[in-house]
Amino acid sequence: MSAELISTDVLVIGGGLAGERCAIEAAAAGHDVLILSLVPPRRSHSCAAQGGMQAALGNCVKAAGDNTTLHFLDTVRGSDWGADQEVAQIFVEEAPVAVRELAHFGVPWTRVRGGKNSYVIKGERVEIEERIENDGLIMHRDFGGTAKWRACYAAAATGHAALYAVDSEVVRLGITVRDRTDAVELIHDGGRCWGAVARCLRTGRHFAVVAKATVIATGGYGRIYGQYTTNATINEGMGAAIALNTGIVPLGNMEAVQFHPTALAPSNILITEGSRGDGAYLLDKDLHRFMVDAEPEKQELASRDVVSRHMKQRMRDGMGVDTPYGPHLWLDLRHLGEQHLTTKLREVFEICRDFAGLNPAQDLIPVQPTQHYSMGGVRANKDGQAYNMAGLFVAGEASCWDMHGFNRLGGNSLAETVVAGRIVGRAVAGFAGAASLDVNTGVAFAAMQRAEQRAAEWLARTGPGPDVYTIRDAMGETMMSKVGIFRKGDELERAVTELRALLADCDKAVLRSKAPGMNPELTFALRLRNMLRLAYVTAKGALLRTESRGAHYRSDYPLRNDAEWLNRTLVRWAADAVEPEFSYEPVGEIDLPPGHRGYGSDERIEMRMSPDQYNADVYARQAEHGRLATSEAAGSRMRRGAWQEPV
Ligand SMILES: Cc1cc2nc3c(=O)[nH]c(=O)nc-3n(C[C@H](O)[C@H](O)[C@H](O)COP(=O)(O)OP(=O)(O)OC[C@H]3O[C@@H](n4cnc5c(N)ncnc54)[C@H](O)[C@@H]3O)c2cc1C
Repeated sequence: MSAELISTDVLVIGGGLAGERCAIEAAAAGHDVLILSLVPPRRSHSCAAQGGMQAALGNCVKAAGDNTTLHFLDTVRGSDWGADQEVAQIFVEEAPVAVRELAHFGVPWTRVRGGKNSYVIKGERVEIEERIENDGLIMHRDFGGTAKWRACYAAAATGHAALYAVDSEVVRLGITVRDRTDAVELIHDGGRCWGAVARCLRTGRHFAVVAKATVIATGGYGRIYGQYTTNATINEGMGAAIALNTGIVPLGNMEAVQFHPTALAPSNILITEGSRGDGAYLLDKDLHRFMVDAEPEKQELASRDVVSRHMKQRMRDGMGVDTPYGPHLWLDLRHLGEQHLTTKLREVFEICRDFAGLNPAQDLIPVQPTQHYSMGGVRANKDGQAYNMAGLFVAGEASCWDMHGFNRLGGNSLAETVVAGRIVGRAVAGFAGAASLDVNTGVAFAAMQRAEQRAAEWLARTGPGPDVYTIRDAMGETMMSKVGIFRKGDELERAVTELRALLADCDKAVLRSKAPGMNPELTFALRLRNMLRLAYVTAKGALLRTESRGAHYRSDYPLRNDAEWLNRTLVRWAADAVEPEFSYEPVGEIDLPPGHRGYGSDERIEMRMSPDQYNADVYARQAEHGRLATSEAAGSRMRRGAWQEPV
């Protein structure tokens, strides 16, 4: 066995915004930090984020009066009351600081232009006089599900600008990055994490990194939906998968999958919500603006789950534009004008031009809803520490922290990456500072041996078995057709059966290329079983949740059921166990009582107990499910009742 073993204080798996911001915090506290990444950090998926980052700065006229309370209300309503309200509170308070810090790191935020400005609001062009004294402050654009314009943006390249700035800090601090490296297994002794085994994608060699603290920041798992996602091909959910494989660390709310209304059809490249925020509208095949009828108040800017459902229904009603690739609707940006499109929405303009041959200043853009964001992930407490596993932390889209519940608001994810990076980074630094690296290296070598064994088994397998890419495509078809925007019991049962069969196929699959080193087919094969397991717990979780909440919509259970389902799904599944184990914990302490979101349906099954009764044993019950103690007492950051103050 090639037994490379290295040690560090803090291991961060993932070089996107969340991982890098977390690494900065730990390095600034004096720790030795190592980042592992599949790709050079600047190519992480955070770079693709376009539209904006939510922070209640209140700098322009349409943001006037904004504050953290309004941001909290929007976030909890957006989550359909699935969020942990204390985490939402912590997030909204820290977001303005994190956004200003990014300006300090060098992000070229789009700025307020004092004087007369022209905007498109609810289909009307309006002139608004921005205050001269606010000239040069960070500008906001409108986004779905928010009471005020709140999304801070850098044209339509917000993620690109943020990631480059944060990565420059990583370089400045001299943090070591090992890219083209795949973390394949956590090193742990059943209650304490000691790092991870990784595989070098250039050589195929495995090595172990032992660390006092380990952070999973590997992004989302959109690729379990195959081609039906806006996510990059590296978003395969391996951080969540290696946590699930421990059998101890639960994943939270895996059935909470976001579908974004406007992916370019048929390629599924995202057209940012910022375009609707800036005034673009949706049209059906008769060029009718159906969202005005469907949601008279918020129109195209209701939350993503609501808009996606209306779009899907419109197409089911035969009002989509038929094509050989299936129906689509139109996004109309023409009235925004070329000047706006080539500056504030420049990346949208270029995507339409380069990937569809269209000029959005003149042409309608074909769009369809598609998988976009993973609300589920590794369940963690408010410090970002994973349930049941000391020394393991999680941040960003890989986590279920859980400020998004069953629907994330646009712009809240980029903000989460840097806010969580700061908060979790501080907790990691504290943990590593108090820990020693007193690890039984036998645990690390055993994990490395298992990983090498898995690769060797794939290479040794011969015969007429199925190929891994066929299995991947079948998984994507199953997920999109049966675990999609509208879900139903019988279809979900079929999805679970099909995924179970694909898991069996995976055990028989055979590689075409037997090269042990840089072999993309082997690399993918090593992930495939993990992806199928994530897909399986997503489908099964959706089958078991017999209600509709946020992005999880059951046609056979169309109401949100706060009497029975005001909880978070947890799933554990050891690598060698046949079936996953599901359990449910309270969402957290409830401050804002469940009610109408202000868009979508107002029908629901009410809670049978009062919030006080619900809250009585919330933290004790979460602890029973594995929540570890936090640096500050549970509930200490709640600003109870603040939302009742006049705003
Ligand atoms: C097209 C698009 C546009 C978006 N626009 C917005 C927006 O405008 N506003 C907003 O708020 N949100 C937006 N989002 C969502 C947001 O961009 C992401 O949720 C966020 O950037 C995720 O950041 P992250 O750091 O958690 O993960 P990522 O940026 O995905 O980074 C994951 C990192 O983990 C590494 N990694 C993965 N697996 C492994 C492994 N096994 N071993 C080692 N390394 C690994 C990868 O190499 C990468 O460095 C958008 C998403 C998409 C898809």
